[in-house]
Amino acid sequence: MEQRMKDFIHALPKTETHLHIEGALPWELLQKANPGKYLSPPASWKPHFRFDSFAYFESELLGYAGDYFHSACRYHECAKSVFADRLARNVRYMEVSFASGCLDSLNLNGREVCDAIRDAVPRGLDVKIFLGIHHDGYTPKMRPVLDEALTWPNLDGIDLHGAEDVPLGDWAPRYWQNARDAGKFTKAHAGEFMGADFVRYVVEALGVRRIEHGVRSIEDPAVLDLLGERGIPLDLCPISNLKLRVVSTAADYPVRRFMDCGIPVTISTDDPISFGNNIEDEYLLLANELRFTAAELAQIAVNGFEVALIDEVRKREILSEVEALKKWKIT
Ligand SMILES: [Zn+2]
Repeated sequence: MEQRMKDFIHALPKTETHLHIEGALPWELLQKANPGKYLSPPASWKPHFRFDSFAYFESELLGYAGDYFHSACRYHECAKSVFADRLARNVRYMEVSFASGCLDSLNLNGREVCDAIRDAVPRGLDVKIFLGIHHDGYTPKMRPVLDEALTWPNLDGIDLHGAEDVPLGDWAPRYWQNARDAGKFTKAHAGEFMGADFVRYVVEALGVRRIEHGVRSIEDPAVLDLLGERGIPLDLCPISNLKLRVVSTAADYPVRRFMDCGIPVTISTDDPISFGNNIEDEYLLLANELRFTAAELAQIAVNGFEVALIDEVRKREILSEVEALKKWKIT
């Protein structure tokens, strides 16, 4: 039966709307670029591994990124490999972000990086590209880059990244509004390490239309109502949330409660270089640990295409494929 479920998950057209390109770097590419340094995958790939802190997780990830992303070409090489992998897993739509903090620390040209990611998109996969900015990322050095970024034709949107407890300056509401005025889609990481109040803040003050994680919205029924009323989807990453101790056990994962509140949810891998996960593992976790049926998993996939920033014709085309798969018998 588990094999039937795995086959169903594989066959299901899927989306991945919460993926950091630096955190998606394939291990083999990191190894190839650093002979002798990364001999075996990290301990954090083991299923029961838990990170002690977000700071440790982030510093380890930035170490990998610093050892690889030396140029826009490296972003292209990484993106090409990531997109080929997702296409082979029947992912049809992706949203990937690249970090302004990496542009800053590695002295890279953001527009070239953005164009390099766009050039790596294969036929059959729709990809939207986001620039992620840390809470304290709008520095005097980065300000001109971030302002100019809103004119880059290959940039589809912006996202708020990094440690949530770092104070967010007055610049943010204005910048998020400027992004929308420039035709960019806006989202934000929230409700991962800070509580539901921060989710409310990014909805009301930043005006975002999608939340990355948002798991801790569950702590405040009024915030659940807000998300439900406005139809703001949550791009959830169950394995990331488990390994970073946002939730204690898979059984505690509140995905069904969000669905019951009328909040659209999608699932993604977040940073697979740190968690050792792939998109099919995320679906399988819902099936094995939360007893999601094939129809419920298909609904998650449908949600991903419903929120996708693609035209209605393409959307309906893929949704009819998902609909046909609902006849699949698992038992
Ligand atoms: Zn994330």
